[in-house]
Amino acid sequence: MSPPKHEYYETLGVPKKASTDDIRKAYRKLARKFHPDLNPGDKSSEERFKNVQEAYDVLSDAKKRQMYDQFGFYSENGFPGAGAGGAGQQGPHPGMDFSGFDFTDYMAGSGQGGRRGARGSTETGGGFRDIFSQFFGGRGEAQQPAPEKGGDLEYVMHIDFWQAIKGTQTRLEITRYEVCGTCHGSGTSGAGEVTCPQCKGTGNVSQMAGAMKFNLTCPRCGGSGKLRNACPTCGGEGRVPYNESVDVRIPPGARSGSRLRVPGKGNAGTQGAPPGDLYITTQVVEHPFFKRDGDNIEINVPIAIWEAALGAKIEVPTIDGRTLLKIPQGTQNGQRFRLREKGVMNSRTNVRGDQIVEVGIEAPDPRDEKTRELLREMSKLHPEDPRAKIWEQV
Ligand SMILES: [Zn+2]
Ligand SMILES: [Zn+2]
Repeated sequence: MSPPKHEYYETLGVPKKASTDDIRKAYRKLARKFHPDLNPGDKSSEERFKNVQEAYDVLSDAKKRQMYDQFGFYSENGFPGAGAGGAGQQGPHPGMDFSGFDFTDYMAGSGQGGRRGARGSTETGGGFRDIFSQFFGGRGEAQQPAPEKGGDLEYVMHIDFWQAIKGTQTRLEITRYEVCGTCHGSGTSGAGEVTCPQCKGTGNVSQMAGAMKFNLTCPRCGGSGKLRNACPTCGGEGRVPYNESVDVRIPPGARSGSRLRVPGKGNAGTQGAPPGDLYITTQVVEHPFFKRDGDNIEINVPIAIWEAALGAKIEVPTIDGRTLLKIPQGTQNGQRFRLREKGVMNSRTNVRGDQIVEVGIEAPDPRDEKTRELLREMSKLHPEDPRAKIWEQV
């Protein structure tokens, strides 16, 4: 079965002969226009944004684009070594969720100390995983080895409620392009002709589309199987895929959708061009009782009917521990009380939010005759209709 045909060129509004550069420009313009953060709640923009992403994903990659041009569709299935130099599993972006994105960088420059070569170190923070990593900035076409700035990388980090409130330090494992150590980014060597790393010298790359296998001319070497004067390690790209640990400090008060920029930790550029940036978006996992509303914390607390009626001092949980809350006489169901500066400390403003306590009155379930008798007595003392206000309006 073939995947449905997509109108990628139409989606990006570019002609079929558009250069990689034109495609990227069109993409950036449209991505900005339809970004969900700039069109909150607009489903059609979100849909357009996804289509634009998908079109760009295919058209920015010479190999994918070649297949698309040739067959009218592109399939991810059995696509070995997608991306330059066989970077491997870039894949689609399952579960991409842009609903919480914002454009604010609340601390540029953290994680500068991300160390190289810390391959395979373990995750320390726990409770997070990267949902997707995005490799913006496809490489140039086979015959255009112009240097290109490295693409930005996007990671989503899941942190729990307490990590968000108190801040956390963790280590993120990322895969990025790093400057090639053999040629130091130049992409060239004095080695004369080297075997093309993408097709391993065959001049063809095979690709699965559903159950069918296609042989395509290798987009890297144009079918010759050789690259002239190219670095044998990176095949002339000047960069190689690399696993790296980046230390990330999430400041106290992080919210879902807070976006953190780590400059220079995106992909290395090709042939020595400057690198992109790494963006980390935090997603805060919800707490069963404490609800975040910005820097405020909201919590629902049940109270007994006599506590509501007579007034009481009750204990309520806060993020600092238990505290006393005075319930005044005659409190109604759903009434809200504010505990000042018991919310989340905002690391930008150094101001704490409040905790809002909403009380819910629980009616007793009388199992004994004495209680029932008392309640009947009470109803005789209060013959007024609790629904009187409704009857006035209806
Ligand atoms: Zn190299
Ligand atoms: Zn090749």
